[in-house]
Amino acid sequence: DALITRMHELIRDVPDFPSPGVGFKDITPLLADAKAFAGVVEEIASRVDGPVDLVAGTEARGFILAAPVAVALGAGFVPVRKHGKLPGPTAAEEYALEYGTATVEVHPFTVPRGARVLIVDDVLATGGTAGATIRLFEHCGAQVVGLSFLVELEFLHGRDVLAGHRVESLLAVS
Ligand code: IMP
Repeated sequence: DALITRMHELIRDVPDFPSPGVGFKDITPLLADAKAFAGVVEEIASRVDGPVDLVAGTEARGFILAAPVAVALGAGFVPVRKHGKLPGPTAAEEYALEYGTATVEVHPFTVPRGARVLIVDDVLATGGTAGATIRLFEHCGAQVVGLSFLVELEFLHGRDVLAGHRVESLLAVS
C-alpha cells in the first residue's frame, strides 16, 4: 500500500556501515517526513492485539518510535537502555554479540508485575536484542504481548529467536 511504498522510498540503504559487509537501514529520512512518521506510528499502534500497559523502546532508535506509539495507545513508555545509562537500581539481561556481549537494562520499579508490554524497535536483525529484552521484562514479572518493528531483515531469521511471541514488522526485507 501507499505507506509501505513510501517506506521503501524513505529508508536509506547504507553499505558497509557500521562495519564492512554490513548493510545498514537508515530511517532518518522517514522520521523527517511528517506524514510517513505519523503513518508508521499509527500503523504500529493499529496492529496491536489487546490492551497494552507499557510500550518499551530499545536504545536508541526504538525510543523515537515507542514513545509516540505509547501515547497513541494510552500506555506508558519505558526506555530499554544499554549498560550503565540508567541511574538504577536496574534489572539487566546480557546477550551474545558476534564478538563479545551486550546488556540491556530497565528500571524495574517502572514495570509493575503483570504489566502488558509491547516492545518496539526500528530494525529486527538477528533478534538478539529483542530476545534479551523479552527476558528482561519477563524477569520483572511483566508479560510481553508483542514486538513491533519497522523493518525485518528476514534473511537473519530473527523471528525464529522470538518464537512464541506475536511479531509484527511493517516492511520485510529478504
Ligand atoms: P539484532 O539484535 O541483531 O536483532 O539487531 C537489532 C538491533 O540493532 C536494533 O536495536 C536495531 O536498531 C539495530 N540494527 C541492526 N541492524 C540495523 C540496521 O540495518 N539499521 C538500523 N538499526 C539496525
